[in-house]
Amino acid sequence: MSNTIADASSKAKTAVAVDGLRKSYGIHEVLKGVDFSACDGEVISILGASGSGKSTFLRCLNLLELPSAGRLRIFDEEVRLKSTHGGLRIVDQKQVDRLRTQVSMVFQNFNLWQHMTVLDNLMEAPVHVQHRSRAEVRDEAEAMLERVGMKERSKAYPAQLSGGQQQRAAIARALVMKPRVLLFDEPTSALDPELVGEVLKVMRDLASEGRTMLIVTHEMGFARDVSTRILFLEQGRIAAAGAPLDLFGGGLNQRFDQFISRFSQG
Ligand code: ADP
Ligand code: MG
Repeated sequence: MSNTIADASSKAKTAVAVDGLRKSYGIHEVLKGVDFSACDGEVISILGASGSGKSTFLRCLNLLELPSAGRLRIFDEEVRLKSTHGGLRIVDQKQVDRLRTQVSMVFQNFNLWQHMTVLDNLMEAPVHVQHRSRAEVRDEAEAMLERVGMKERSKAYPAQLSGGQQQRAAIARALVMKPRVLLFDEPTSALDPELVGEVLKVMRDLASEGRTMLIVTHEMGFARDVSTRILFLEQGRIAAAGAPLDLFGGGLNQRFDQFISRFSQG
């Protein structure tokens, strides 16, 4: 896996690739050299114990966090980062802003604007960040709300919605940006159990459309059924990676087997 970025052009189209990705907070190194690439259309579930670096990894991929070292490529473009002795620095902020809109993130706690209706939540970034026309964005937003089963609630405020409805609205908001990659950070962890299914159904539909998705989740059945590949993170490193059936079949990686046994007991 060491030449992720260099090799990628000779294979299926790479959606995102990192090479030697490291991230430290002070003296605490959270990501300790991650090499990884996802092809266009892949659905990758990222599993691992709390504190293993899953969120930090996703946040580095869409540059919510700046890596401390390593290289990052989004489709055909390498993010231009410059080494300084304190870590990496962004060379071209415009490039970063542009690439960030291609990688949309869905958060555990939805992160909807509380003072805006659902429709306004969806329209905010496309109109003000992407500078698209309001009319076009409105049509697109309404179509996306219909897709996630939220068309009737477009005028509601987040506080008037269930967690499942808020998360479906947040997914629609990510889609309106027309991202090329969707990142999900524990999208169902904040939901009451009876609301998890409606969100997973939307995500299954997106996966079956061939969207590129990276999903941090503790929903093991979902990860096994929907993913093209599983990454298992442990203490800031990829401790195991492979096809879901291989990994969940057991016997490939002892640490992974121990990790998932905790879920099957519960
Ligand atoms: P996970 O999502 O797998 O639970 P995180 O990526 O959130 O793990 O965190 C990994 C480690 O990095 C944890 O020890 C956490 O305390 C630390 N960490 C995460 N974000 C920060 C931050 N902004 N400042 C300092 N430490 C952080
Ligand atoms: Mg996390």
